[in-house]
Amino acid sequence: MASSAEVKKYLAYWLQLGKKIIIPSRNLSLCPSNIIQFDRYSVEFEECWALISDENTGDCYLEGTIQTIQELLSPKWEISNCARCAMPVPMIQMGIQPEGCVCSDVEGWPNEELPKPREPINSKERLQNIKKSLS
Ligand SMILES: [Zn+2]
Repeated sequence: MASSAEVKKYLAYWLQLGKKIIIPSRNLSLCPSNIIQFDRYSVEFEECWALISDENTGDCYLEGTIQTIQELLSPKWEISNCARCAMPVPMIQMGIQPEGCVCSDVEGWPNEELPKPREPINSKERLQNIKKSLS
C-alpha cells in the first residue's frame, strides 16, 4: 500500500517534469511552479497537496494517468520505480498493470542531461553525512 508520503513524492517528481494535476469536477489544472524550497516542499506545493489529498475535492489525476490520487492512497496501489526511467510510478498490487508508463508522454524523457527531479534535501542530515564521509 502506498503511504501518503510516497504518493506525495510521486506527484512532486512528476510536477517537476512539467506534468499537471487535473481536477475535472472543478475544471481545474494545477501546475505549481515551485515544488522544492530548500529542505522542504514549497508552500505552493503543500497547498496543492492539501487540496488534492482532501476527499471532498473529488477525483484528481496526474496528467496522462487514469488513477485518481484517492485510488493511489488505497491499499490497491503501491508506488514503485519505472523500469525505463526509475521515476516513481503507480503499480497495482493485484490485477492488470496499467498500460504504458507515466513518462511515455513526456517528450525526450528519460534525459540524462536534465537535472533529475528530487526530494527536499534535509541540509542538516546532509551535512552530517558529509562530515561522516570525511572522518
Ligand atoms: Zn518511466
